[in-house]
Amino acid sequence: MRVLGLETSCDETGIALYDTERGLLSHALFSQIDVHVEYGGVVPELASRDHVRKALPLIQQVLESAGLTTADVDAIAYTAGPGLVGALMVGATLARTLAWTWGIPALGVHHMEGHLLAPMLEEERPNFPFVALLVSGGHTQLVRVDGIGRYKLLGESLDDAAGEAFDKVAKMLGLPYPGGPHVAKLAESGDPARFDFPRPMTNRPGLDFSFSGLKTYTLNTVHTCESEGGLSARDKADIARAFEDAVVGTMVIKCRRALEQEGLSTLVMAGGVSANRNLRAELAKALSKKGAMVFYPAPQFCTDNGAMIAYAGAQRLLAGERDNEDTRVRPRWPMSELPPIGVAAA
Ligand code: ATP
Ligand code: MG
Ligand code: FE
Repeated sequence: MRVLGLETSCDETGIALYDTERGLLSHALFSQIDVHVEYGGVVPELASRDHVRKALPLIQQVLESAGLTTADVDAIAYTAGPGLVGALMVGATLARTLAWTWGIPALGVHHMEGHLLAPMLEEERPNFPFVALLVSGGHTQLVRVDGIGRYKLLGESLDDAAGEAFDKVAKMLGLPYPGGPHVAKLAESGDPARFDFPRPMTNRPGLDFSFSGLKTYTLNTVHTCESEGGLSARDKADIARAFEDAVVGTMVIKCRRALEQEGLSTLVMAGGVSANRNLRAELAKALSKKGAMVFYPAPQFCTDNGAMIAYAGAQRLLAGERDNEDTRVRPRWPMSELPPIGVAAA
């Protein structure tokens, strides 16, 4: 089955073609960074309009580069939520219109299930059950995964998501949006010994996270440097390093704890922040000491993309799931409401 995947939940138009026999055939991504950069964040209305402009040309591009035509597509999967309502509606309307025109099924996919299953696009795939660390711009969650749609939330951030914290710290340091990759780059030249930032919620039991205190601590450090003769390039790099080390340190502790609690030895990381090289390296190091394995998507499939939506959609389409007349986009949509694969949604 060849599935066309459409991702339009936020500020990336991602299109891909996934073949359940042959794997990923082709994919294309258009990032709207240039549209939003002057506002320092995503402007929802501009995001919707840009998806309208880019989606169809990208679909044509993906089909052409796979050497296929519209007649070769067997089903369409699109992101139905969570995300920006206007952006989701663009993808849903386009996907369902094309599916109707081509006489094939459409299926709305959960964006975080897409992220969660993105490591399955790699050659070395994790086996169920595993613990997933979902770290993106809007989510920070530890989830026990016993199969597709069999998710148990073990812990989550009580305030900011990890990616959001990266983006806010980037702003404090005068770096452009989206800030995560810029903070990570700057952190490489920072001195890890200069500042010691707190690892929030690690000294008590549990698997929840909190990043707002760390954010305030970072801001206070910025202010201290400013009042002591200005925030130098050196200060910025050292602060970026201390912040990143604190986030990574926190993740390592919580992931280890989650695996121990669940008696599992496989960790899967996904979402934009899982592209962070320091996080990948430190988790792999810490878990290999425990005989555990870490899986993550290729960096390009950590952040939003069409391939993960095509893949997740393909699994559910194969099991017989399809949209019906009542299917709506869900700007807010807890992943726990997803049915196990093969069991129709209520
Ligand atoms: P969600 O998936 O929760 O709806 P989103 O789709 O906006 O949110 P993603 O596209 O998965 O999030 O990831 C984007 C986030 O990842 C941004 O916050 C960005 O700063 C962060 N990010 C990307 N690369 C890195 C990196 N190398 N280090 C740290 N953070 C990063
Ligand atoms: Mg994005
Ligand atoms: Fe995302």
